[in-house]
Amino acid sequence: MIILALNCGSSSLKYQLYDYSKKELLAKGIVERIGLEDPIISQESDKNKCKDIDVSIKDHTTAIKAMVKLLTDKEQGVIDDMSSISAVGHRVVHGGDKFTQSVKLTKEIIDTIRSLSYLAPLHNPANIDGIDAAMSILPNIDHIAIFDTAFHQSIPEKAFRYAVPISWYEDEKVRRYGFHGTSHLYISKRSAKLLGKEAKDCNLIILHIGNGVSVTAIENGLSVDTSMGMTPLEGAIMGTRSGDLDPAIPLFIEKRLKLSSDEVDSILNKESGLLAITGKYSDRRDIENNLETDKSCKLALEMECYRLKKYIGMYMAVLGRVDAIIFTAGVGENSGLIRELSVSGLENYGIKIDQAKNIGIFSKHGETELSTKESTIKIFMIPTNEEIVFIEDVVGVLNSKDTNHMKFDYSFK
Ligand code: ADP
Repeated sequence: MIILALNCGSSSLKYQLYDYSKKELLAKGIVERIGLEDPIISQESDKNKCKDIDVSIKDHTTAIKAMVKLLTDKEQGVIDDMSSISAVGHRVVHGGDKFTQSVKLTKEIIDTIRSLSYLAPLHNPANIDGIDAAMSILPNIDHIAIFDTAFHQSIPEKAFRYAVPISWYEDEKVRRYGFHGTSHLYISKRSAKLLGKEAKDCNLIILHIGNGVSVTAIENGLSVDTSMGMTPLEGAIMGTRSGDLDPAIPLFIEKRLKLSSDEVDSILNKESGLLAITGKYSDRRDIENNLETDKSCKLALEMECYRLKKYIGMYMAVLGRVDAIIFTAGVGENSGLIRELSVSGLENYGIKIDQAKNIGIFSKHGETELSTKESTIKIFMIPTNEEIVFIEDVVGVLNSKDTNHMKFDYSFK
């Protein structure tokens, strides 16, 4: 069974082609600069790495056609024709409070996703463009939506509500939704496995630290709080996003610098975070490489880890009992320094990291326990695998299974 996974952004389309029966990635690729000058499509497979720059890609439909051409190309492709694909999974960023699990796309479901576009104006319209285009090119197979927000729909009202006028919530749906759901889902199941327990018996704090960062509190297997909010801007300090700040600051800056709200929004999302503190770097490797010579890099590292530690403390208070703290995603898997600094000083709470071991552990080492024997709370590094959640959800929905994550039989759980 071959499954195509699509992740459509406003000017890019990422895709992966999986052979589910063989549990094998056949190819992955990206179409960049859709609708702009000099679009480019690149694809990697066991066979080869290839690029096609001599293409005209004006919208998502032409992007998908270019992808189809490359996937089925006689020399560079990996399948003979698109009829071998059984289903398409679409990543959808915002499911609002309408979707608690993955679903088959119908006209009604697409209309609902469209109606949520005001909550994620940069993401949902692009996701829908991708869905429309893929459905018109591959009309005879099932298309399934996988939501970034679905896993967090178990968060209780006291944690998802903001203390703002009730009409903001009731009419405008202003509330916490949370993101990185497939990653937190995967990590929660793998942690349970490493702890030798059922997911329903595990209390966890998961730190997904990539360019975007989210920390989630898991109680009895369910997300009960998460650091990202109505949008992915809230919470930890990120590569280019500010994370938490006094809500009066954007209004103050808007007035003082005579900026539009769109300009402020763009600055907080794209020009803040570590990039703003260092003035040049959002990549943690650059920051770590310049710690000795650049004071702003030292400060950026301290600020990032201080904020992460505050979230750990907060979620320990939320959970009462914590079985494990888990680091994942690009930074969480690879930066021993950020892991160490985020939990340093928490020894009295039973959190003790094995410093010597931790510093030499990277993603390539696979799932690793980083805590000492004396640590009452385990610390793990677990490489995330959002794709497997994606693919298994697609197959689950295709087979009419209930993909509610507490009931669904994921292969990795
Ligand atoms: P996203 O999916 O949010 O774009 P990733 O999870 O791929 O992000 O993580 C990207 C981040 O991982 C980058 O900031 C990069 O610097 C960081 N990273 C990758 N390898 C290392 C490493 N060895 N040390 C520190 N950071 C690393």
